[in-house]
Amino acid sequence: MGRSEDLMARALECIPGGVNSPVRAYGSVGMTPRFIAHADGSHIYDVDGTDYIDYILSWGPMINGHNNQRVLNKVIEACQKGMSYGAPTEIEVEMAEFMTSRIPHIDMVRMVNSGTEAVMSAIRTARGFTGREKIIKFSGCYHGHSDCLLVDAGSGLMTAGVPGSAGVPAGCTKDTLTATYNDLDSVESLFEANKGEIACLIVEPVAANMGVVLPDPGFLQGLREICTREGALLIFDEVITGFRLAFGGAAELTGVTPDMVTYGKIIGGGMPVGAYGGRKEIMSMVAPLGPVYQAGTLSGNPVAMAAGLEQLKILTENPNFYTELAAKGEKLYGTIDSLLKQYQVPCTMNHIGSLGCVFFTPDQVKNYEDAKKADTAAFTKYFRYMLEHGVHLAPSQFEAMFLSVTHTDQDIDNTLNLVEDYLKGMK
Ligand SMILES: *Cc1c(COP(=O)(O)O)cnc(C)c1O
Repeated sequence: MGRSEDLMARALECIPGGVNSPVRAYGSVGMTPRFIAHADGSHIYDVDGTDYIDYILSWGPMINGHNNQRVLNKVIEACQKGMSYGAPTEIEVEMAEFMTSRIPHIDMVRMVNSGTEAVMSAIRTARGFTGREKIIKFSGCYHGHSDCLLVDAGSGLMTAGVPGSAGVPAGCTKDTLTATYNDLDSVESLFEANKGEIACLIVEPVAANMGVVLPDPGFLQGLREICTREGALLIFDEVITGFRLAFGGAAELTGVTPDMVTYGKIIGGGMPVGAYGGRKEIMSMVAPLGPVYQAGTLSGNPVAMAAGLEQLKILTENPNFYTELAAKGEKLYGTIDSLLKQYQVPCTMNHIGSLGCVFFTPDQVKNYEDAKKADTAAFTKYFRYMLEHGVHLAPSQFEAMFLSVTHTDQDIDNTLNLVEDYLKGMK
């Protein structure tokens, strides 16, 4: 019994399930989560001092590695001036200017405290702007835990084996329509059956909460065309992909322009931050400028802004940042893909840039139904092997692997050797 087991026993007495977010529990892999003591760069250390190569990275935020010195210094500086004022500050203006001047589809942006809040507020704004009530999402896409979006919502719920959540009144989800990822016909039929009633369509432009599922060529462009034709807003939920696939996220990478975007994770540099933005006429609906109410005591918190802004600055300073990160992704995920083929194991590798997922199914994974075919027992064996050999992966088949710029060739080679040893054993 290590200290993680002791801490989990204590946690189970006073925190539901022992964790403050369900995906952290190791329920689906039948283990006790590692309690973390500290982290640095690409490595994370548990309370027993065990060293792991970290591919969770706080579920994405630590794209510059753990403990980035520049971010840390800005946070300490900000803390020394006071933690929160509940009044406007210069750094909020700098943050908004930094984003709007670099991301062409955002004229105005509002800061919030999480991805959940960002999406919830963007949906409200879209409904206020269009005067319509229905929304379309895709099964397997996760958009946070607000009531109207807890429908076929991907990873956390998939791992728990429940389709939705208890405690969500039917009234809250009756206007949420669900389409199939990579299936434009399923979207057309919903628009057809609900003519003039759809306020917005929200999509993860690269789905990363049912494992990693890439949009087929033309899929996002097709959504853009349908939304424009039907007068509905297209919302890209870039909470994972924003500042990760490119500074301007999947929108920049694919050249498809959404009406609104939501951010979280990377934007806070490790602090709790979310944001939503879009065209001026849409964002002008938000209070106090417009009639859509949205507020937050700690929104735009100066310490959180200091961390987030410094992180975003680092991402823009090196013009090769994203090509270098993608090269690491190609080395890790591309090689895993080759190994899967070499050892002829029944697995499929989906990856793009620094995001990747090994699906334990031999078939292509293009939507939620495909992802659900994965053999979760086979994933569990692989997960345990990797953890026991010093690789920290998300404890679920339906999560992404994340890379940071601090992952070294040595980290990647060590990981690849382990994967190869494991695959040899699987044959
Ligand atoms: C994580 C996530 C959210 C929710 O963000 P939180 O900060 O956890 O509330 C929303 N959308 C996507 C795509 C996410 O991955």
